[in-house]
Amino acid sequence: MPQKNIGLEAIETASIDEIRHLQFQRLHKTLHHVYHNSPVYRQKFDQHGVHPDDLKKLEDLCLFPFTVKNDLREQYPFGLFCLPIEQVSRIHASSGTTGQPIVVGYSKNDIQTWAQVCARSIYAAGGRPGDKVHVAYGYGLFTGGLGAHYGAELLGCTVIPMSGGQTEKQVQLIQDFAPDIIMVTPSYLLNIAASIQQKNIDPTSLSLRIGILGAEPWSEAMRDEIEAQLAIDAVDIFGLSEVIGPGVAQECIETKDGLTIWEDHFYPEIIDPDTNEVLPDGEKGELVLTTLSKEALPVIRYRTRDISCLLPGSTRTMRRIQKITGRYDDMLIIRGVNVFPSQIEEQVLSMEALAPHYLIEISEENNMAALTVHVEFLSNHAQNNVQHVSRELADKIKNFIGISVQIAIKEPGTLPRSEGKSKRVIDRR
Ligand code: ADP
Repeated sequence: MPQKNIGLEAIETASIDEIRHLQFQRLHKTLHHVYHNSPVYRQKFDQHGVHPDDLKKLEDLCLFPFTVKNDLREQYPFGLFCLPIEQVSRIHASSGTTGQPIVVGYSKNDIQTWAQVCARSIYAAGGRPGDKVHVAYGYGLFTGGLGAHYGAELLGCTVIPMSGGQTEKQVQLIQDFAPDIIMVTPSYLLNIAASIQQKNIDPTSLSLRIGILGAEPWSEAMRDEIEAQLAIDAVDIFGLSEVIGPGVAQECIETKDGLTIWEDHFYPEIIDPDTNEVLPDGEKGELVLTTLSKEALPVIRYRTRDISCLLPGSTRTMRRIQKITGRYDDMLIIRGVNVFPSQIEEQVLSMEALAPHYLIEISEENNMAALTVHVEFLSNHAQNNVQHVSRELADKIKNFIGISVQIAIKEPGTLPRSEGKSKRVIDRR
């Protein structure tokens, strides 16, 4: 594979006008591509009364219909592809935990684009050619492993394709192969960190410098915890299979102030999820993404359900998205109060006696949702007073989030541990 030029790509320092110009050209082309090569998109546009030529300026994108997860589900497996299957060189699929899995396809060029945005992301995260990158995202149909792998290779790194699971072996390889960077979900990294601690390995004796963490929401409190436990910089990477996989947006190591969205390939909008209205930059709402260069499966105005807002560029000219700490689908409504698991996470992580693991259980009591937060003592705090600690955590959650919850404190090491994307909520209703 050819190596990425070292340093920033020209587009990363281009002016906003240049970026908007490129976006317009690419968007125009993409709209024509889907209209002429996908009967499904053509029908959607026709029913909506729009034609690709109605795009006179970037903002006209709001005239076009949204694409939602169900559009992809209904077209399972290849119905939304815009290239004949012989020209599709790779297939991936999302986990499908909530129903029919979603299948995505990539042309040769798409694979290259993906490697490029991942290489750019690793660079922004502080990775450099010659670094060793331990990939502990799952390989296979999930986009995490192979996305990170191709990006790291393109940047000129040495890739260790460990994949998820086998925690003992992860630790062994981190000791033996001395990687500089680990790419993994934050919840699984905590699991690996616990194993490092159990073995009495001093984290500062390890070679790891940077964790490039994503695929699930994680709070600032979780960042602090991971950075302290492993003595590394932890930076956020965002992506989703429907759009390309990891590498849609990346936090820069020098600022850690939200994720630069690679706007030459992905056009972001924030909408009000109730009115579908496009919101101005700076306002919080649902992130909607349009691909600008994908060939096999472009998506037009894909509703991610992720909650964020658009911020001006900081280290790059391209805009940033605010760190995503929740998605509308994970929002719990407890006695009229909207709650996200990441808010509970922040409170759990603020407790000195508790391990950074938690599980939220929702049940029904007298026709009302009742919430129990399961947590664990850290092993060196196991002698703490259960009632005292429970009350302290319940009070914090009441004060900061506004809901009354039950706390169930477990023995150290008894809550289920993540080996990939963590499952934080069990709904028993
Ligand atoms: P699925 O989870 O449906 O199998 P994906 O692996 O494509 O599919 O997951 C994409 C979703 O994961 C995103 O829409 C978002 O909700 C979540 N996600 C990915 N990266 C991050 C991140 N850095 N922060 C928060 N959420 C993330």
